[in-house]
Amino acid sequence: MTKFDELHDLKDEMENDDSLPLKKGADKLVFGSGNTEAKILLIGEGPGRNEDLQGIPFVGQAGKLLDKLLALAGLERKNVFITNIVHHRPPENRDPLPNEIEAYGKYLDKIIEIIKPKIIITLGRFSMAKFLPDVFISQVHGKSFKVDEFTIIPMYHPAASLRNGKILEAEKADFVNLKDMLQSI
Ligand code: URA
Repeated sequence: MTKFDELHDLKDEMENDDSLPLKKGADKLVFGSGNTEAKILLIGEGPGRNEDLQGIPFVGQAGKLLDKLLALAGLERKNVFITNIVHHRPPENRDPLPNEIEAYGKYLDKIIEIIKPKIIITLGRFSMAKFLPDVFISQVHGKSFKVDEFTIIPMYHPAASLRNGKILEAEKADFVNLKDMLQSI
């Protein structure tokens, strides 16, 4: 089976899993999208309203910024696979709760297992905490960390950059720098 087929089956399994805690209040499952053969996996937080309606990650304002940030690193969506820490929209876009992160985590682990990325770029503190539980994003953003077989690069969440100009400048610099980092990984 190809990675595409394996991910397709996993998405079906998730769609049929009524135990997922955010399923009831959501419209669509936002499983993930992009290149299933990518070496770079991006993990965001959770779907917002636009993503919930379309079933695709990062299609709203934060997604438009993400596209620009990727371009600074010489990347396009077709070079990466993008998913989230939870795959249904939390009510009112609130932060995902620990039990929700755990429930979706078993599927996220399978996505990672199938894609086998070399590099995982976390967007925001919730996906960062999956790999780097004891750090502050303000201190580690844009740096690379070896965790198991992965290179983890924590980045600010694009939505945080939309709210704060200083974070936006730092995040742009991190993505410019990412271009060089990718050459050496
Ligand atoms: N923010 C996220 O973390 N994920 C999305 O898919 C959209 C916005």
